[in-house]
Amino acid sequence: CGIVGYIGSQAAAPLLLEGLTRLEHRGYDSAGIAVVGGSAGLKVAKRAGRVRDLADDLPKRFAGKLGIGHTRWATHGPASDRNAHPHTDAESRVAVVHNGILDNAATLRARLADDGVELASDTDTEVLAHLVARSPASTLEEKVAEALAQVEGTYGIAVVHADFPDRIVVARLGSPIVIGVGEKEMFVASDLAAIVRYTTTVVHLGDGELASVSATDLSTYLPDDRSGRLDRTSIATTE
Ligand code: GLU
Repeated sequence: CGIVGYIGSQAAAPLLLEGLTRLEHRGYDSAGIAVVGGSAGLKVAKRAGRVRDLADDLPKRFAGKLGIGHTRWATHGPASDRNAHPHTDAESRVAVVHNGILDNAATLRARLADDGVELASDTDTEVLAHLVARSPASTLEEKVAEALAQVEGTYGIAVVHADFPDRIVVARLGSPIVIGVGEKEMFVASDLAAIVRYTTTVVHLGDGELASVSATDLSTYLPDDRSGRLDRTSIATTE
């Protein structure tokens, strides 16, 4: 339902929670955030209920200057703590938030289960975290493009990876994603309302595009929808 992301020099968690609060008017049943950084790698906090409840529950040491957040409107699986986003792979290296519906999720879930993957939720979204984690590609952009080449349906997604602690990868097909460009910081959201307070320099991701967002750079790509091969369409530097 709602996506936010932050990368820059400030602590991400409070900004993510505030962004999620600004999306509350759209309605939701669960909320969560994932933050990368510090010695702990990737940390996730998520639960059914309000953003306020999530904020109250958040461990004090939820440090990191890079993260993503989500408010969920359940389509696959009931509103519950385990079905709240972000979703991760089994080793909690990858975290994914997703708006939309993956039509072939049942097939992909069955295939992953056959391969010995233990699924931790009832959602369609979770497959993306496993597919990104299992991709043999060397960059996060390619891993995400390869994962997306295997799904059918609609998505706006934001992905972080503990092994790539300097970027957020976003992509969209049939669901909006905007990127807010700040001074040595970037914001990501599914709705301008989450980020207008921080920046008015906004890039609307094109449908079918993928973008790699660091604190100072933004590169957009048009992935081949079958191979996941990436063609860069543009690059912008804010320094
Ligand atoms: N299909 C996903 C789920 O049920 C995402 C729903 C949404 O857009 O919030 O978890």
